Amino acid sequence: MRLPLIERYRAHLPVSLNTPVVSLLEGSTPLIPLKGPKEARERGIRLYAKFEGLNPTGSFKDRGMTLAVSKAVEAGAQAVACASTGNTAASAAAYAARAGVLSLVILPAGYVALGKVAQSLVHGARIVQVEGNFDQALRLTRELTERYPVALVNSLNPYRLEGQKTLAFEVVDELGEAPHYHALPVGNAGNITAHWMGYKEYHALGKAKGLPRMLGFQAAGAAPLVLGRPVERPETLATAIRIGNPASWEGALRAKEESGGLIEAVTDGEILEAYRYLAREEGIFCEPASAAALAGVWKLLREGRLEEGSTVVLTLTGHGLKDPATAEKVAELPPPVPPDLEAVARAAGLS
Ligand SMILES: *Cc1c(COP(=O)(O)O)cnc(C)c1O
Repeated sequence: MRLPLIERYRAHLPVSLNTPVVSLLEGSTPLIPLKGPKEARERGIRLYAKFEGLNPTGSFKDRGMTLAVSKAVEAGAQAVACASTGNTAASAAAYAARAGVLSLVILPAGYVALGKVAQSLVHGARIVQVEGNFDQALRLTRELTERYPVALVNSLNPYRLEGQKTLAFEVVDELGEAPHYHALPVGNAGNITAHWMGYKEYHALGKAKGLPRMLGFQAAGAAPLVLGRPVERPETLATAIRIGNPASWEGALRAKEESGGLIEAVTDGEILEAYRYLAREEGIFCEPASAAALAGVWKLLREGRLEEGSTVVLTLTGHGLKDPATAEKVAELPPPVPPDLEAVARAAGLS
């Protein structure tokens, strides 16, 4: 039976019996063995995709949000707030709905594209547009949460990372050991920080003998951790990792250094190649940002930088349906044909 993430890993999370469990049965996502790519098969390297797109709102953000919202309700919050239009806002809105509290999304005016906030709006989030820039919106969100019974659920909230570390637990529980490598996309860098926390905790408890090397990948146009300085105008089609100044900068560097791993950049072209490959050859439709994990591993495979016979886990962070605009970039609708069998068969390439 599927358990709420908080119940499955209660012993490892900062909850008590007084914490109300606000859950949509997140986590426990499949670890799908991949068939390829051939550069991996040839060297006996096994790849597994932890498909986080199968979480309740379509991204790994639900792992952190179940804990952040549960703790907010425990503390008596009547609302949760964040300054994001993306997967964080969607997750916050869904868990707030579940808990029966208000969710607030606070943004600079002119920033809101209906497509991006549709999921949050349908869940009943209240959008507040501020006449100002993003920094002002974030500052006001923080001030609001200090003055009113409103909980901040941006990634500054430490419960988010506590929930997200459970992904590492699930990987070890399923493989019976830590993988040799764990690859994932890096935006605000909370997730790589949380993965590494999880692996270290399980290792310290003796649940995994080894630790993986953490492989973090940023988009080339939004790669502050690779460049070693913030990027003022980050650009990439992988919108979930279009971040110029990551909140968990230190955590990401620690994960890289302590694990003997790396943080490198992949181009949008490489991301799209991996995105197409996953959909067409493996049957997995993920967000472009998620495909950055495979794009990076693929690059390392081609350069012969991964050990033969090793095991690699990729976190595929979000579902492809989150971003229909990119889908339209890699696939085209054909023109219509007359309604007769011959024309349809010809158009289908059968005759
Ligand atoms: C949030 C998110 C990321 C980036 O995770 P960070 O913790 O910010 O590094 C990557 N992919 C998807 C789909 C996301 O929603």
